[in-house]
Order: sequence, then C-alpha cells, then structure tokens
Amino acid sequence: DADIPKPVLEVITRLRELGHPTYLVGGCVRDMVRKVHPKDFDVATSALPEEVQRAFRKVIPTGIQHGTVTVVTGGNHVEVTTFRSEGDYLDGRRPSSVSFERDIVKDLSRRDFTINAMAYNPLDRELVDPFGGQVDLAAKLIRCVGSALERFSEDGLRPLRAVRFAAVLGFTLDPETRDAIPATLAVFRKVALERVREELLKLLLSPRAETGLHLLADTGLMECFLPEVAHADAESVRLARAAVQAAPLDADLRVATLLADIDTATQAKELCLRLKFPNKSADLIGLLVEHAKLETRVDDADPALRRLLARVGLVNLPALLAVAKARVQARAPERLPAVEALASRLEALAAAKPPLSAKELALTGGDIMKTLGIGPSPKVGEATRYLVESVLDDPSLNTADALRALLTAWAARGP
Ligand code: ATP
Ligand code: MG
Repeated sequence: DADIPKPVLEVITRLRELGHPTYLVGGCVRDMVRKVHPKDFDVATSALPEEVQRAFRKVIPTGIQHGTVTVVTGGNHVEVTTFRSEGDYLDGRRPSSVSFERDIVKDLSRRDFTINAMAYNPLDRELVDPFGGQVDLAAKLIRCVGSALERFSEDGLRPLRAVRFAAVLGFTLDPETRDAIPATLAVFRKVALERVREELLKLLLSPRAETGLHLLADTGLMECFLPEVAHADAESVRLARAAVQAAPLDADLRVATLLADIDTATQAKELCLRLKFPNKSADLIGLLVEHAKLETRVDDADPALRRLLARVGLVNLPALLAVAKARVQARAPERLPAVEALASRLEALAAAKPPLSAKELALTGGDIMKTLGIGPSPKVGEATRYLVESVLDDPSLNTADALRALLTAWAARGP
C-alpha cells in the first residue's frame, strides 16, 4: 500500500466520497499481491464517464467511448475507467458492444486471466478476488477467467498474452488454458499484427524469453505469425531461443537475434514490416541479420573488414557485435573467443575513423572533375567508386595528393 501514489489515492477517495465504488484493477493489483512494484495504476469505478468528468477540475477524455478518462491532478495523470462488460465478439478481435456496469465483479469477469481479474480498494484494504487470482498467483499459474476455449474464441490475442505473461512472470499455463490454444488458432490468425508485435516484444524482453519462445512453438502460435522461424528444424529453433536469451535486453537486437538464421535478410526485413515494425527497426534488423554470422569472417583481412564496416555503418557496429556474440554463444560457444577477437579488431578499425564512403574522401566531386579535366558525367561516379575502393584497401591513401596521383594513373589506363 505504501507504493500507491498519492494522486491515485486522492482520485479513489474523491470518487468514493461521492458514493461511487472505486478500485485499483488489473496489473497493479496482481503486482501488489506478488509484492512487486507496479508499473502503472489503473483505477476502475462505477461512476459513468460524465460523472468522473464532473468530479474533477481537469479531465482529458482519453478513450471516452470505452469509458476511459484521464484525471489530471497537480501534473499527475490518473486513468479512470468505468466498470464495463462486453457484448459478443463477432470477429475474434473486438466486442460488438461495450456496456457500462455498476458492479465490479461484472468488470472483473471480462478480464483475461484470474491473476489479472482482482480489484483492490486501498481505503478499506479490501481485495475483490472472485476467480481465485491469489491462489493462482501462489501456484504460479496463468488461467483464463471462465472457459479458456470461449475466452480465446472471443479475442484471439489472449493466447499470446497467456504465453507472454508466462514468460514475464515465470509462470506455467494451466492445462485447460494451454490446451485451448491449438484449438483456437484460427481466431488468433485474425488479430491485428501490431497487437501481436507488442505482445511479442514484451515476451522477448522478459527474463524468460527462452521459455516464452518454447511455448510459442509448442502451442502452434509461432507458426501463425513467425512461420519463417517456426519452419526451421527443432534444433535450430532451440538454438535461436538460446541466442535470444543471451542477447542484450533491447527489442531490435532480440528480434534480430531470433531471426539471424532464417534464410535471407530480405525475408527477415519483410517479416518485420509484416508485423508493422517501424521502417527504421525493420531496416536495422535486416542489416543485422545479413551480417550476423561473424564467425565466418574471423580470417578476413583489414580491407574486407573495412568494407563490412562500410556496409553496416559505424553507428550499428555495437548492435552487430552484440547479435553476433549472442548467436555464437548459443550455437558454437567454442568459437566465441575467435568472434570476440574479431570484434576487437572491428572496434579498433572503427576507432581509427577510416574513410568508408565518398563523403570522407580527401577530394570533392569538383576536385575529381578538375583533376580529370571533365565535367559532370557518369565517369565521375566511376572515378569516385575507384577512389573509395582504393582507400578501403589502404586508408593512408586518403590525402589530396595521393588521390590525385591515383586518378591520373586511373585515367591513363583508359576504359
Ligand atoms: P503489464 O504489466 O504488462 O502492463 P497488465 O496486466 O497491466 O500487465 P495490460 O495489457 O496493461 O496488462 O492490461 C491491463 C488489464 O486489462 C489486464 O490486467 C487485464 O485485466 C485487462 N486486459 C488487457 N487486455 C485484455 C484482453 N485482451 N482481454 C481481456 N482482458 C484484458
Ligand atoms: Mg498495464
């Protein structure tokens, strides 16, 4: 209780003074019962959205059609949602209607899992737990509220949420809940892929990402939205899981590690775009997948490594090294020292800030035209590429004099 922020308590107190039953609900109650500090505090009340708006000076109608408003008190934002129940789900994605309710138990019964379906009134220290959430928390079980088959058929995202919570909390799936997943995959396939991505990222960033991925593969969920990963042989999937677990806690890095061994980098990028990753992430992940197999390059000479740096970009080098090390650690730990030595060489090469592109040449395009005695033409591009290749081979050539001498010799050689 000491954890509950004052503005949240003030909102609950005010609504209760006005006679509206009001509670903390969802994830924060689960976390308080587990004695973990909640991330955010959601308030649910019997008051209608208009009544909440009238009770406070400043209210933002954040999602008023679903009954959610944000109360602003002294610069703090508190989300308050009216108790509600949901009409039938017709499409596996969204309820056909939402009705406001006066009874907290009605609100709790629409929630996904027993551990997420508790409410707490901090003023009277009263816990409302109609579905055995405390017992399941103690037993470390994810169990649907009511019939798992029905709940998963209503909203196809719930099976993935079940696996995500299992990974985040280190819990197991209750058998009935687990068995309902393969039976309702057709509904899961209809879910908007950005909702899938959000749950996948939470799973990948959890302390038990490896277990979460195992459950995804085991229940058939992975096959639905990551077929490129799921189709690999069992051993490859196992190694990819272990690699993810070894990767730093960063969404793009963990996705790249998961995808590092699918057929092509283009496929990896397309997979990310399909899951509605921002373009920037999809590009980075594609690039990391393309170059992740660094153990194949341990014998490369410096010019080849500078070309690798040019392709990857100096800013992305730390990300590439992290993915490559995680991957090799899981797949071939005996090769880790060689990859680490290669990583040090790449870092040293990068630290020398070598010229990697036309921008960094000691001659400008104008200088090149003047030296060759020509105007703008495709030949300027050819000459520039020749100079870039030359300095990638030997960065000490990147002086105006040396590049002019190279150009003159190049032009004299003719086409
Ligand atoms: P986290 O700590 O990851 O935010 P959370 O429990 O707060 O966990 P949210 O996704 O923020 O999870 O959802 C808040 C609450 O809303 C849940 O605890 C659950 O009661 C309810 N909920 C969310 N999504 C669904 C859903 N798809 N079906 C039923 N209830 C849901
Ligand atoms: Mg939450």
